[in-house]
Amino acid sequence: MKALIKQKIDNYGLTLCDVPMPNIKEMEVLVKVEAVAICGSDVHIYQSDNTYDRMKDGTIIGHEYSGEIIQIGSQVKNYQIGDKVIGESNIFCGVCEACTQHKTHLCENYKMTGIDVNGAMAQYVAVNEKMLHKISDEITTVEASVIQPMSVSINAIYSHSTINEHSSVVVFGPGIQGIIAAVAVRSLGAKKVVVVGMNQDEKVRLSVARKLGLLTVNIEKENVEDVLYKQWGIRKVSHIVEASGSIHAFKEALSLITRGGEIVVFGIYARTFECDLTYLVRNEIQIATSYTSNASHYEQALKLLESRAIDIKALIQTYPFENYQEAFEDAINQRVMKPVLIL
Ligand SMILES: [Zn+2]
Ligand SMILES: [Zn+2]
Repeated sequence: MKALIKQKIDNYGLTLCDVPMPNIKEMEVLVKVEAVAICGSDVHIYQSDNTYDRMKDGTIIGHEYSGEIIQIGSQVKNYQIGDKVIGESNIFCGVCEACTQHKTHLCENYKMTGIDVNGAMAQYVAVNEKMLHKISDEITTVEASVIQPMSVSINAIYSHSTINEHSSVVVFGPGIQGIIAAVAVRSLGAKKVVVVGMNQDEKVRLSVARKLGLLTVNIEKENVEDVLYKQWGIRKVSHIVEASGSIHAFKEALSLITRGGEIVVFGIYARTFECDLTYLVRNEIQIATSYTSNASHYEQALKLLESRAIDIKALIQTYPFENYQEAFEDAINQRVMKPVLIL
């Protein structure tokens, strides 16, 4: 079968090559991949930027995928040949403390599809049935390929924030996570929602956000406080969602959050910084963190997609599998929001 592999961990790019089909174990199914999205982590691997040094040479990458089951193992109970499915990206042990607390995404022995084991940028992938979710006829496999990143934002907003219809919310970072977080915020009834980006986000990301009916601010052109005041007569908000991974944005969040407010953080930060805890205490500012997602968030993401609360197609750009280089380069240069390879 054809697969995209990281031939040498230090060499820029990926190689499309012929590899043997995976053999399924008794608890696994074989999925014929129909669509696989390119994640930020895949871009890091493509660029060989030292982020995923633990990867072995020759690994098939990719963990955001959807497809059809074409073969089932002898012990598989809940799935049949012909089912359209997506697979969770985290492989969990099921027996550690986190797993027994239903926090399988924080499994102490976790492995990541497409990094620690062969992934889904291939014609076929073998998956344990406990990682699968069925997709309904209402959703195409292309749309379903982005359920994994959606589920990450869903975890941040549905499981870790106290946002409700009375909340005022600023979302930092207009990438796919931030935009889906903003849509999830809106689905909770909040009407005062602003997505904040920079000049570099103007062309694609902020324009996609506006297409989805979200209010946006380019922080290099406008002051967030001024926009809040102009729109709703407020200068601070009850909730901030930090999805940008920028320390600068986090500091800005501290100046925009109201006393007793909450900052939900789920960006990944390249830098550390000093923070005045006493300031947070005296203002009862709550910091909530959120990381990846588990089965319940995948199900919630599927429901959000089925409800058509988001026109996910506005975020997706599709490419034939063979044109993977173009897709990766477009992702690197932020020419598209979410590239999806079609097999
Ligand atoms: Zn991902
Ligand atoms: Zn575990």
